[in-house]
Amino acid sequence: MSSPALSTLDALIALDRDHLIHPVAPWRKHQQRGVTVLESGRGAWLKDASGRELLDAFAGLWCVNIGYGHESVVQAAAEQMRKLPYATGYFHFGSEPAIRLAAKLVEITPASLTRVYLTLGGSEAVDAASRFIVQYYNNTGRPHKKHFIALERGYHGSSSFGAGLTALPLFHRGFDLPLPNQHHIASPYGYRSAAGADPQALIAASVAALRSKVAELGADNVAAFFCEPIQGSGGVVVPPVGWLKAMREAARELDILFVVDEVITGFGRTGPMFACEAEGVEPDMMTLAKGLTAGYAPMGATLMSEQVFAGIADGAPAGAAIGHGATYSAHPVSAAIALEVLRLYDEGGILAHGQAVAPHFAAVMDGLRDHPLVGESRHRGLLGALELVSDKATKRGFDPALGLPDRLFDAGYRRGLIFRSFGDHILGFAPALCFTEDEFVQMAQRLRGTLDDVLREPDLRAALK
Ligand code: PLP
Repeated sequence: MSSPALSTLDALIALDRDHLIHPVAPWRKHQQRGVTVLESGRGAWLKDASGRELLDAFAGLWCVNIGYGHESVVQAAAEQMRKLPYATGYFHFGSEPAIRLAAKLVEITPASLTRVYLTLGGSEAVDAASRFIVQYYNNTGRPHKKHFIALERGYHGSSSFGAGLTALPLFHRGFDLPLPNQHHIASPYGYRSAAGADPQALIAASVAALRSKVAELGADNVAAFFCEPIQGSGGVVVPPVGWLKAMREAARELDILFVVDEVITGFGRTGPMFACEAEGVEPDMMTLAKGLTAGYAPMGATLMSEQVFAGIADGAPAGAAIGHGATYSAHPVSAAIALEVLRLYDEGGILAHGQAVAPHFAAVMDGLRDHPLVGESRHRGLLGALELVSDKATKRGFDPALGLPDRLFDAGYRRGLIFRSFGDHILGFAPALCFTEDEFVQMAQRLRGTLDDVLREPDLRAALK
């Protein structure tokens, strides 16, 4: 399809300005700036409504892991829509794709997880997990276990509860969060941690922080610890290998549930199918979304152990319904899409391809360490970040008045490259698993060009040590 005529595009921009509220956006600033309309995608490439080709090094919103334009996914969706576009899961009804998907997820996730609740995305998966945890402790005679611990810089979506587990100020300000039963401990952020970058020291510091927070709250009062194996929206914080395992063991000893939020890290993003797999971690619960359907339709999942499932199921009054659900829980079209996407990761070779090209991504990231703006590059699999600083020795950032994040994003866009430009001068990357070696070469060129463009601006030069 050709790009919309200019007048059509102008009309769209005006309609957007007047009516559409954008997620996590500065509302008034967005109105002034106007929307950038995306029109089509193929492989790792997007085209905007003006016809500009963009290399998407962020897979949409770290979700389009298989790349755009897979016809077999479209067919799976169309077939399911034709056959049965909707089936409720209420009243003991179900649909074949949802049942098969639940079984498939149990097969491919850690062995501790045996039961699956299918949601509409990651926020709802986290929200469901927290509600199930409350129900679990109430139903198993420990109603005082109601405090939740998560990591600073963590992101667990923006539901009323999940946004409080999230530890990014933006999601708290003006929303009366975090709640009194939500607590945060320091993130294993090697580049800026008091523990320094030493892996063992970082792991020990996190374990000690968890123990001390549980001691402060009283072990009998703590329900669960939530974490991302690699923190995404907090700036791609990559903990040392062994960190996840150590935190899992600590949670077990402390008798609190260990919930791993693999909404970003799942489905090959960090190398293996799930980040838990790399360290042989068996969590009590896991939340998934994004790569589950690779963004082709909304869907997430909350997985739980048999112990949690049985605690809820058998502790409820006999025959009483567990009051959690939504019209679109386990939607058959999303489930059919997810099944085809999972097939593509495996039989389609996309997971293996992602693993094979990860060294090229690492080379792009590390190859920019010499750039005057880059303080650190960090990555695992196809998830990475560059942290920009004005002084490499002191790791000093930039004056927010420079408006650097928007300038970086805009400079990247002009060079035909999309990445995430975080507020604290961290650039996030999550290329689709289908990226080719040549696309990584193009990414490296465009990224260096972007940083050079910004660096040529006099106020930025002046800010550098
Ligand atoms: N958890 C993590 C780790 C995420 O990164 C996200 C989204 O980025 C969410 C939960 C929320 O997922 P969603 O945006 O699908 O609601």
